[in-house]
Parts: sequence; C-alpha cells; structure tokens
Amino acid sequence: MQPQSANDTSQRFIFDNTDIRGEIVRLRKSYADTVSGKYYPEPVARLLGQFMAASVLLSTTIKFDGRLVLQVRSKGQVALMMAECTSAGELRGIARYDETPTSTQFSDLLSEGTLVITIDTRKGEPYQGIVPLEGDSLAECLQQYFLQSEQLASQFYFASDRDGVAAMMLQQLPAQLQKDKDERESHWSHFSTLARTLTDEELLNLPNADILNRLYHQEELRLFTPKDLIFKCSCSRERTASALAALGRQEIGNLIAERGGIEISCEFCATEYNFGPGELALLFEQVEEGPTH
Ligand SMILES: [Zn+2]
Repeated sequence: MQPQSANDTSQRFIFDNTDIRGEIVRLRKSYADTVSGKYYPEPVARLLGQFMAASVLLSTTIKFDGRLVLQVRSKGQVALMMAECTSAGELRGIARYDETPTSTQFSDLLSEGTLVITIDTRKGEPYQGIVPLEGDSLAECLQQYFLQSEQLASQFYFASDRDGVAAMMLQQLPAQLQKDKDERESHWSHFSTLARTLTDEELLNLPNADILNRLYHQEELRLFTPKDLIFKCSCSRERTASALAALGRQEIGNLIAERGGIEISCEFCATEYNFGPGELALLFEQVEEGPTH
C-alpha cells in the first residue's frame, strides 16, 4: 500500500544528460475537499480536477512565492472555472454556471473563452499569460501556451475517476546540456513518443516509480522527493470585510437599512462570515473615512 501522502503529491523527475524534465501530480483528498458539497455534474468535477492538477504542474515550472491561478471565462456551459495553487502546495478551485451543464465534452463545457494564467507573488507585479481556448482539451491549451510563450515543447496528460485525478507533464527545458538543435529535437521526439503510450489506467493506478519504469526503463532518470498538496482556502474575515467595504458606502447603507446584518458564505470552502448591524455600521464609517473608489 502506498503511504497516505502519495495521494496528494507532486513529484518531479529529470532525465540525465537531456534538457527534459517531468512531473507527476496526484490529487485525492484535496480534490474531494474541493468538490465536496458543490453538487457539480461529474464531467464538471472531473474538469475542475484537471484544472487543479494543471495549476500544480504550472506552479512547478517556475520559482515563486505566492499563488498561481488558472482561470477560464467562457460562453460555454461553464461560465467560469478556476483553480489556484500556492507555492506552499495549497489548492482550491471552483466552477460557476447558471444552468447545470449537461455535456461531457471539453469544447461544450468551455468554449469561446480565454485561459488566463496569473502568478501573484508577494513581491512585485503579478504576471499574466493569456491563451485562447482552442483545441479539445485542457492539455492542448497548455501545450499551446508553452509553445507560444516559451517556445518550449511540452506534453500534458490527465486521467481522472470519481475519487481523484492524476496528471503528468513532460517538458523541454531551455537548451543547456544539448546545444545541437537536431539532437535536442530527436531526444524530445523519443521521450514524448514513449510518454504517449501511457494509458489513463496506468497513470491513475500505478505508483510513480512504476509508471516511469514502464515508460523509460532504458533511460537514466532521477525521481525527486514528492511534495505534499492540500486543500486550503485563503479566505478570512478580514478579506470578506474588505470585499464588503468595496461595495461602497451606499450599498452598505442599503444592507443596514434592508437587512440589518449580512451573511456571506465563501464560494470555495463554504465558511460563513456573519456581519451584524454593529459591524456593518463600523464598516460604513470606515468606508467614509477611507479613500473613495
Ligand atoms: Zn474560503
């Protein structure tokens, strides 16, 4: 039996003497916690699981201190899908729609939209990368993104069942060990062709070392210590209060007049924040004193 931590992990591997690396992500409990109580149709939940795994994979391609957000706004059956991964391995995600989605196809669920990748660091300006939603899968969108923004070839694989999601990324690194263009391309072709033989079943059920042994038993590779991932929401009473304050003085005045207090439930983790008449009145005062928006 695998240790419990193997269920929610991200594990890197590199091939010796090549500029190619990979990463395998598994989400079980973090995924279950994210979709718990949301009543998403199964295809939506599975796609959200892919987004979560993708946010982890993308976060492993950069060094940062903060959070990486993967978000799509679309005109398809799902209006918004978003997943977030912090540098500490904390995940959360959400899907929003007006009418319950009925399709199982990526291109019906998310269509006519853009995939936005935001990296919010604690210092400095946020980075934003934008890719049009083209292709029939999240994997294709991500492959396009890396080809366009970094001129690096990559491959993404996702497999999911009711309990979780597993994903693998294979990616070229900037030329360092192999400067020769032809040699570089032939290596990429070799490793990516082998990766394409991986089945969903294997990706979901085999331990990482066995997957790599199955695909690359003739290659020299190194598997790094896995990093743990957990579901954790970054909401707080203070953040909810500042979101309320952002509504403006008039809106808060209306809330006091109409309802006395207000209950706000976090969309990600369902935590309830209650603001009574006294607190709202205090917020009303603060908004007046603060800078006008
Ligand atoms: Zn929350």
